[in-house]
Amino acid sequence: MSQDVSADVVVLGAGPAGYVSAIRLAQLGKKVTIIDKDEIGGVCLNRGCIPSKVLIHAASFYEKISRAAEMGIDVDGARLDLPRLMKWKNSVVKKLTSGVATLLKANGCKVVAGTARFSGPSELAITTSDGQFRMSFNQCVIATGSRPVSLPGFEVDQKRILDSSGALDVTEVPRSMLCVGGGYIGLELGTFFAKLGTDVTVVEAFPNLLGGVDPELTAVVRKKLEKRGVKVMTHTQVKSVRRTENEMTVLVSQALPDEGVVETSIPVEVVLVTVGRIPNSDHLDLEKTGLVPDSRGFVAVNSRMQTKVPQIYAIGDVAGPPLLAHKGSKQGIIAAEAIAGLKSSYDVIAMPAVIFTDPEIATVGLSEAEAREKGFETKVGTFPFIANGRALSIGEGEGFVRLIGDAKTGRLLGAHIVGPDASNLISEPALAIEMGAQVEDVALTVHPHPSLPEALMEAAEATLGHAIHIYQRDPRGDARAHRERARA
Ligand code: NAD
Repeated sequence: MSQDVSADVVVLGAGPAGYVSAIRLAQLGKKVTIIDKDEIGGVCLNRGCIPSKVLIHAASFYEKISRAAEMGIDVDGARLDLPRLMKWKNSVVKKLTSGVATLLKANGCKVVAGTARFSGPSELAITTSDGQFRMSFNQCVIATGSRPVSLPGFEVDQKRILDSSGALDVTEVPRSMLCVGGGYIGLELGTFFAKLGTDVTVVEAFPNLLGGVDPELTAVVRKKLEKRGVKVMTHTQVKSVRRTENEMTVLVSQALPDEGVVETSIPVEVVLVTVGRIPNSDHLDLEKTGLVPDSRGFVAVNSRMQTKVPQIYAIGDVAGPPLLAHKGSKQGIIAAEAIAGLKSSYDVIAMPAVIFTDPEIATVGLSEAEAREKGFETKVGTFPFIANGRALSIGEGEGFVRLIGDAKTGRLLGAHIVGPDASNLISEPALAIEMGAQVEDVALTVHPHPSLPEALMEAAEATLGHAIHIYQRDPRGDARAHRERARA
């Protein structure tokens, strides 16, 4: 064991929760040490959000080229060069990870490449390539993230049975792929491979894809997947896989209501396992601190991201759902400010979620069903992209915007979008909800024409019963009162 050291604040994990926290701590005058066993940037930058979005964008671009003839543009000889696409993806990752490394350095954060475990409530044992040493700390922020759940019988070898990391590094486009799990990753990556020409089957245990998302939104994505040739099997579990030299056969069992259980054998070249993620809390020797994670492995925190052990904080995936990078970053800032003695606490009302399917899905706040469950009387407005000039001009008329308002107060409760650029559109309603805006505020705000955000304005108008670019035959409540006032 090399010489022991003492640190002020230690951040464990350099993903979007940890590195953001470290930078804010440094901005607030703390002496920060950040430890990670892998590359800086965590799963998000290296093996998740960023590389997947590079590939998804490239595949959409490739597909658009093949549709360019519809717009009178003939492109001959468009062809995918997968190794060059992967090189491009890696170059984007490198730019971002080295940018984060530069920022950490510029802010005076000490970066340690090593694996840390707790050896006491205020002490870590750290293993690096140079050996082991102990580090005592005043405060520690656990930001160790999560990893894919494994599926018994489907052991990942990153060749024929892949998890999300392996799928982002394939060397050839597989002829066929079975995605186990129709959640975020299964659908995002399943769509990517389908666009490259892979014959994709998605198998989902539950009745709906993307559990927790309004089924009317996922129906739009499912329809487009099926149009593209993707086979979607809901109510279906994988049972086993049989490997031969060149192929695998996956036995699936589909239990459709009223139709009984049907077992089918599906021959595929590769299987992609995306059945959820589990927190990285089990290799930290947390028991040495007195902390006990919950039954799923999450570390409980209060609104200042502080655990039961006052000098230890937890943020990001390890601190519980939703497992979203931007939630981790927000929590990282709260933890840093709490450690620095500021009054910050996690009081987020609107946590957006974005799924990079085709079309994209983005949600923030309550869905109609959730609002009703919570006892709200709702007023809901839906506006289809087919009636939005900008959506049509870019050839993306699928999907809709739905806004959910509280009928009593008029407050905006939720926004649910499936359609072009939903990932960018969602920030406006997120701001509106955070600011306690009325649905009418969105309707009264002038939105530039022609633009996709006009669909938000029109959905807000639709909740009032008088959207201009759809015909609302029976103007309700507010709209009727509005007309009566005007006529009086
Ligand atoms: P997920 O929880 O989104 O989906 C897993 C799906 O697998 C579920 O629908 C589940 O019902 C299904 N499933 C589980 N066991 C099964 C079985 N044996 N057979 C068939 N289906 C089965 O998990 P994920 O897609 O692995 O993603 C993990 C996490 O990463 C998510 O929580 C998500 O928040 C996050 N993520 C976010 C983004 C984004 O923000 N765009 C992208 C990717 C991942």
